[in-house]
Amino acid sequence: MGLMGTGILKGLGVTLRHFIDTYAEDLKYILNKSGVQQPRPLRRQSPKNRGLVTVEYPRERLPLPENFRYIPFLVYDTEKQDDKCTSCGICAKVCPPQCIWIVRTEDPVTKRPVPQPKEFYIDTTICMNCGYCAEFCPFDAIKMDHDYELSYYPNQEPSARLVHDKARLTKPDTYHASIHPTDWRRELEDRAAEEAKKKAAAEAKAKADAAKVSGGAAPSGAPPAAKPAPAAKPAAPAAKPAASKSSAEPAADAPAAPSDAAQAGESQ
Ligand code: SF4
Ligand code: SF4
Repeated sequence: MGLMGTGILKGLGVTLRHFIDTYAEDLKYILNKSGVQQPRPLRRQSPKNRGLVTVEYPRERLPLPENFRYIPFLVYDTEKQDDKCTSCGICAKVCPPQCIWIVRTEDPVTKRPVPQPKEFYIDTTICMNCGYCAEFCPFDAIKMDHDYELSYYPNQEPSARLVHDKARLTKPDTYHASIHPTDWRRELEDRAAEEAKKKAAAEAKAKADAAKVSGGAAPSGAPPAAKPAPAAKPAAPAAKPAASKSSAEPAADAPAAPSDAAQAGESQ
């Protein structure tokens, strides 16, 4: 049986060790001359770290992994100076809690739909950050954001509130490239491959068309192809049947003459 109070002393010893480790780690970090130093919050979160690991948010923030996802945002194509979204509505269809609303743009003259969203809303109080919208968008027009600080003051503009409108949701593709560099590179590669495929198809078609044209024209020096022989004239109309014996005879499959049947009846 141990002495009374030794458990408390051991516990205090653990606390003291952590206290000292915290400063010892900081000292090691300051004295580290070997090269690249990680930012303090990241180093603090390392499994090898000793001492206290509190990240002093919001003064300090942990770096987010690239695939971290929060509320989606709409990508604006800075090269074409246009929205990437075509308002196809696929994201709204696949969204499990149905928190996306889209209003399509309409041509003012023809009243036909234009492939661009007039309004686009996401209710961030319902969004469950699943990322389905970004996964299913065929135009890479919606991506998952890293911005998780969505609180607002009641006197702020409605655009700052939790139902995000198109203006709040839209961010340039350069922002997408900065937070998702791998995804961005993949997109560029896909686009380049798609363009190369289209170019190759166009070249193959042009070649095939040229071959058709040269195949249809007469080769130089060769005699022109013989004209197709005119169709044989229709045979002269058959001579009116002469009152010959053969034409007067009944056909082999013609029904038997009633006289025969009558004869058969008579013979019975
Ligand atoms: S974000 Fe993508 S899936 Fe959604 S409407 Fe726009 S183009 Fe369609
Ligand atoms: S992340 Fe999921 S829940 Fe949120 S808008 Fe996209 S599909 Fe809907």
